[in-house]
Amino acid sequence: MTALTGRQRDEFDRAHIWHPYASISRPNPVYKVESAQGVYLTLADGRSLIDGMSSWWAAIHGYGHPVLNAAAAAQLEKMSHVMFGGLTHDPAIELCSRLVELTPGPLTKVFLSDSGSVSVEVAIKMALQYQQAKGRPDKNRLLTVRSGYHGDTLGAMAVCDPIKGMHARFRGLLARHLFADPPTPCFGEEWEEGHIQGFKDLLRANHGRVAAVILEPVVQGAGGMRFYHPRYLERVRELTREYETLLILDEIATGFGRTGSMFACHRAKVSPDIMCLGKALTGGYLSLAATLTTDEVGRTIGSEGSGELRHGPTFMGNPLACAVASASIDLLLSGPWQERVERIQGRLGQGLAPCRGLTGVKDVRVLGAIGVVELEEPVDLETMQAKFVEAGVWLRPFGRLVYTMPPYIITDEELERVTGAMVKVIEGQAKG
Ligand SMILES: *Cc1c(COP(=O)(O)O)cnc(C)c1O
Repeated sequence: MTALTGRQRDEFDRAHIWHPYASISRPNPVYKVESAQGVYLTLADGRSLIDGMSSWWAAIHGYGHPVLNAAAAAQLEKMSHVMFGGLTHDPAIELCSRLVELTPGPLTKVFLSDSGSVSVEVAIKMALQYQQAKGRPDKNRLLTVRSGYHGDTLGAMAVCDPIKGMHARFRGLLARHLFADPPTPCFGEEWEEGHIQGFKDLLRANHGRVAAVILEPVVQGAGGMRFYHPRYLERVRELTREYETLLILDEIATGFGRTGSMFACHRAKVSPDIMCLGKALTGGYLSLAATLTTDEVGRTIGSEGSGELRHGPTFMGNPLACAVASASIDLLLSGPWQERVERIQGRLGQGLAPCRGLTGVKDVRVLGAIGVVELEEPVDLETMQAKFVEAGVWLRPFGRLVYTMPPYIITDEELERVTGAMVKVIEGQAKG
């Protein structure tokens, strides 16, 4: 094989490699990253960008952290991977014991998988197998809310927002689920019982068919970056109990401190029957996800027929990813993560305040280490991204949303550069 020159490589990328949600025949420009350290991405052309995205919520400790590097290196010396069928290993045991301790008390059983979407598939299977074992086979649908996002595989996609998601294109293949309106009121607004009425009516009318309710707790991520009242979640918990329906909380984006509490469900003092984790689980080093459930769900699934849970990925419990995940959790717990996230929340609030009142800005909202500017009109992603790169920051807006969820280690000055760039670029956009 002959090595490609720099230019040939760029051409090869354009001609042969798909990027997320991209066209292979009309590819959008991509920036080549050479290395990453701390909160900085170094591009192949030598430019250095502050990562305001944490590589899609994942890199909470920043890049190249010595503790995580050491954990990966040490595990590589032992084994990078081994099958999990019929075998087990300390990295998986260590990680699962941490997850059981860290998550709400009732969650005691762990299923490891390789990505967030797959952890959602596993959660759905758990819910259906549970209801079958309970002798309620007609409970085979899910109920969720609009504006949600749970992943791109077929099962997960079917519970994403039906309009913003991809339902129309894959209609023939997708399961038909039930959708309530997006949860209200917004985080910080006054709670009234009327806000749960629509959800309540839908569940009451359909509970005989509903195996589980699936929600992103408090923060809806890729489906709209909406923050809603924790009381909504508490009411959902009560209603799911009343109607013998499981509650699945998808903490893939919100887990590990992002909203200011370790898990967003802590804000509502709600414990789900099933919880999905991913994204920041390995501090952004490797792809890994987990689905946790309770003794009761585990026991019930185990009581029917052969008792097997019908899932088993090839790379289940990958030791390298597990070792880094344990190190990432220890690193998080040993540091002042709560103060950091609180400080980021304050700085994001100040830094993004000038966006309020700008022409074309609909809303500015901040929760934990998440800052969102919602515009009236969809942005031109390519143009806006190029402006951010010029300003030395990495942000990737979507639709009408310009947002940041930086690594927790970001300094005040670095964060000011991120929010400053957001204000400047959005202001420039308003002026046309
Ligand atoms: C990203 C995300 C997923 C999907 O995770 P992947 O690792 O991309 O498959 C599911 N749910 C939520 C809430 C997410 O943010």
